[in-house]
Amino acid sequence: MIRGRFQFRSLRARLAAGYGGLFALVMALVVAILWISVDRIGGRDVVQQMGASSAVFDRLWDQRAREMQASAALVARDFGFRAAVATGDEATVTSALDNLQGRRRADLAAILSQDGRVMGRVAPLEKADVARLWDSLDEGKMTGVVRIAGRARQVSAAPIMAPTNIGWVVFATDIDQRELDSLERLSAIPIHAGVASSAPPNPAWTMVAGDIRLDPAARAAIETSLHDQEATSLSVGGEENIAFVKSLPAMVAGERAALLLYYPRSEAIAAYRPVKQIVLLVGLIGILLVAYASLRGARRITEPLGRLDRAAGRLAEGERTVLAVEGEDELARLAAGFNRMAEQIEERERRITELAYNDGLTGLANRAMFQRHVDLLLANNTNQLALFCLDLDHFKTVNDSLGHHAGDRLLVEIARRLREAAGSCFIARLGGDEFVVVQPLSGERGEVDRLAEAMLGAVRQPIEIDGHHIVPGTSIGVAFAPVDGKDVATLMKAADLALYRAKSEGRGVCSFFERDMNERAQARRRIESDLGIAIERGEFELHFQPLFDLADQKVCAFEALIRWNHPSRGQISPVEFVPVAEDTGLIVPIGRWVIEEACRRAASWPAPLRVAVNVSSIQFRRPGLGEQIVSALEASGLDPARLEIEITESVFLDGDEATLRQLHSLKRLGIRIALDDFGTGYSSLSYLQSFPFDKLKIDRSFIQALMTKPNASAVVKSITELARALGMETTAEGVEENAQLMALIAHGCSSVQGFLLSRPLSAMQVDDLLRSKGLPVTGRAERATPTDRAAG
Ligand code: C2E
Ligand code: CA
Ligand code: CA
Repeated sequence: MIRGRFQFRSLRARLAAGYGGLFALVMALVVAILWISVDRIGGRDVVQQMGASSAVFDRLWDQRAREMQASAALVARDFGFRAAVATGDEATVTSALDNLQGRRRADLAAILSQDGRVMGRVAPLEKADVARLWDSLDEGKMTGVVRIAGRARQVSAAPIMAPTNIGWVVFATDIDQRELDSLERLSAIPIHAGVASSAPPNPAWTMVAGDIRLDPAARAAIETSLHDQEATSLSVGGEENIAFVKSLPAMVAGERAALLLYYPRSEAIAAYRPVKQIVLLVGLIGILLVAYASLRGARRITEPLGRLDRAAGRLAEGERTVLAVEGEDELARLAAGFNRMAEQIEERERRITELAYNDGLTGLANRAMFQRHVDLLLANNTNQLALFCLDLDHFKTVNDSLGHHAGDRLLVEIARRLREAAGSCFIARLGGDEFVVVQPLSGERGEVDRLAEAMLGAVRQPIEIDGHHIVPGTSIGVAFAPVDGKDVATLMKAADLALYRAKSEGRGVCSFFERDMNERAQARRRIESDLGIAIERGEFELHFQPLFDLADQKVCAFEALIRWNHPSRGQISPVEFVPVAEDTGLIVPIGRWVIEEACRRAASWPAPLRVAVNVSSIQFRRPGLGEQIVSALEASGLDPARLEIEITESVFLDGDEATLRQLHSLKRLGIRIALDDFGTGYSSLSYLQSFPFDKLKIDRSFIQALMTKPNASAVVKSITELARALGMETTAEGVEENAQLMALIAHGCSSVQGFLLSRPLSAMQVDDLLRSKGLPVTGRAERATPTDRAAG
């Protein structure tokens, strides 16, 4: 395709070719026009010269014709001459004519008489010539060109009157080369001259003076030029001539004559050759200049564009690029615009990466970044690392009770502390209150434990948010690569299981992944699905553990403790399934069943024996707890004063007024409220001011420590004293040894509970125990073996 051949790959070539080509074309056109004009001017000049020459020739012609006519008239009037002609005195006539001919330098001087005689020097006149002349004279034509003996002659005549016309005096001069030469000499340029004539019977133009030969084309040219009086082109001897043809007056009818002036075209143009050369030279220089300027101009435009093009390429490859901005033209603005655009792209990319890989709230890496990071680390098989999975304890409670703003502030602060504690380790927030830390292992002893301790310690520092005193806590699960998993997903699952274990171990601890955790996780899932149908199937049962009043020295209450008799797995501990029930919300219907069952059982016991029921904080958060208790009391007919509710501090983490109002209204009904597991929570003492508990249950851990840790005794003593000061009772949990009992008596504890006195008993065992004491038990009585110690 033709187009294809002219398609340039570069804009520069296209511009240069386009503009250069256009300018060169214009230049060439100008040169061509000048060139042709110069030729024209040359031709016109020659034609003008020829016009001038022909005018000169006209004047010469006229002058000679007049002179010859004047001489002829003079002779014709001479009396003697007339008489000689009239009488036919040839000698006298001839002598007079000779005389005249000599003076006039005429080629021919003769008398043509009316009767047809010819006298004087008539040669080379022939008879036919004489007859033609006589006819013209007779018609009154006295001057003109006549072809005589093949040559053109100028003829002038005058009539001889005696008194009538008896004949004519005729003079003729040859229009010869001499004459033409003088005409040529008179011209400013060396033009050539000739005379052509056409006479019957052959009308074709022939040269009668001047020595050129006419070809048919030349003859035709003469004919047309004579007709429209324009300069023409005449080929003479193969050379092109500019020619000018002028008609000469003919004397004889049918004859025509013309003066021919011509000049070789090459010579006409030759005069202008230097001009043409200059035009050509100027044109060539112009084209070269234009080509150079086009190339330069194109480069000026395309060079910055080329730079822009290359920069755009680099930008596309993600390289940082800045263009130099020179000047203030469009290209400079384009470069500046490009720089701005590149900057914005960079900024936006940075933002996108930030958004994609960072957690907006804490500024830590996010899950995607974590994934990438660990993937990279794991790609290298030799890397060994520890993955810490952290989950804040009771974060949901903070968030729900203090609001998301407080929750966010807590997260930001925890993130800051973790970053500090984690040092150079990678840290990310996966969402919610979940954090991960990746520690590359160097093989140094205890490095994992140290990091775990550092993080636990850092998180544990108290913090005040919106006037609330919070002691945060976190549980940590750890998994190791490559032993526990070779990819992120497996590792995360393992660390999660370890975390779950840490949480169920009482939170605030770190636990490591073990192989059997997977099985336990499966077990938990089974529990979840089985729990839902356990109530309908009647798989739950309440056991009751006696509380022994130290002042009265007898059982004052029983704590209801739930048991799950799983059809295939046997008895499942509440430690195992209560947290699952709390997580799934199933604790609400289960708790309701516990309250009803406990009230029903207790109603059969003799007053004032009480029943203590554990109520989860989840139950407090759902509406309807108060109604449930009231209806259970009503259904069973149990005196509210014989019902004791055990709550843990987690109930207060909600911090809202509703919980307190609920507790107050329960208390107003006469129901007793006990604070369970006292001493293990965040800020146990502060809650004592917010609500008037009836009892504090000192946590088992303090009782266990009584004999081993020196300050445990002081702690227990101060708790009992504080409780007494606030008008509260105390119950020591988990009393297993006599020494503990003795210490508790010494510290002034109100009541004790534990294996030392009695393990939790089935309802039937309780009835048996009560009956054995001789106490009246209403309802069905079944025999069972009571624990001896409880009886004691
Ligand atoms: P808790 O309220 O602190 O209950 C006392 C737990 O200590 C009982 O475990 C009891 O068997 C155990 N215990 C009593 N004396 C001793 C002792 O001398 N030594 C030791 N080592 N342990 C002793 P259990 O029955 O397994 O209950 C565990 C926890 O399950 C309870 O702790 C309570 O928080 C929860 N729980 C039990 N029943 C219910 C219930 O009906 N509703 C709710 N919400 N939670 C319940
Ligand atoms: Ca309890
Ligand atoms: Ca307890």
